[in-house]
Amino acid sequence: MLFVVTGPSGCGKSTILAQLVKDVRSISFSVSHTTRPRRPSEAEGRQYYFVSEMEFKRMIKKDMFLEWAEVHGHCYGTSKREIAARVKEGDVILDVDVQGARSIRTLRKDATFVFVLPPRAADLRKRLLDRGEDDNASIRRRLNNAKREIREASSFDYVIVNDRLNRAVLELEAIVLAARCRAESQAAKIRAVLRSFPAAKK
Ligand code: ADP
Ligand code: 5GP
Repeated sequence: MLFVVTGPSGCGKSTILAQLVKDVRSISFSVSHTTRPRRPSEAEGRQYYFVSEMEFKRMIKKDMFLEWAEVHGHCYGTSKREIAARVKEGDVILDVDVQGARSIRTLRKDATFVFVLPPRAADLRKRLLDRGEDDNASIRRRLNNAKREIREASSFDYVIVNDRLNRAVLELEAIVLAARCRAESQAAKIRAVLRSFPAAKK
């Protein structure tokens, strides 16, 4: 199953997702490609695959992305190869912007879409400042884009307000676990239970 998480930069998506993949079995994070410079706390292949603009353009030309978008002045994309490798191991969770979520919705109707909100604009600003990994111009750009992004929240399947981190993590975990229990996801298990019954006597 595919889970798509969106929300303005600094709302806490990476923090929530990092905890979720520790707590929930058989789900992994899809690592995107980006042309954004690596932050001091980030490692190649962990948060992102960091590539040059030339490499990113080459990948677009070769149709290597499921979706890609320009966000806050840099390119970000989900590679088809990354998704193909991850789905072999179980469910996959993506952190993409609203444009990416829109593209995936047209391609994968079965995916579950979640929007993460900050409690208030002031909290978002503080989180971006406290994270201390983006320069002032980048923070301004992220805050300017936040309102436009949040206007799209009501079109998602689920909305989580990341006020208290623990609760936000639990809510996302609940969404993942509930999606796994949906009847259409359980067809194989229903068949297996039925097979465990003795054949009816004629
Ligand atoms: P995003 O991935 O959405 O850009 P991050 O996960 O990097 O956001 O979070 C931005 C900052 O906010 C980080 O410094 C993180 O530790 C902090 N943060 C995340 N969730 C909360 C929360 N519920 N309360 C306070 N700070 C938070
Ligand atoms: P950041 O630079 O803060 O890590 O991410 C900036 C924005 O890019 C966030 O909104 C994040 O969700 C989005 N993003 C990250 N990876 C992808 C991707 O592969 N595709 C798209 N469309 N957006 C992405």
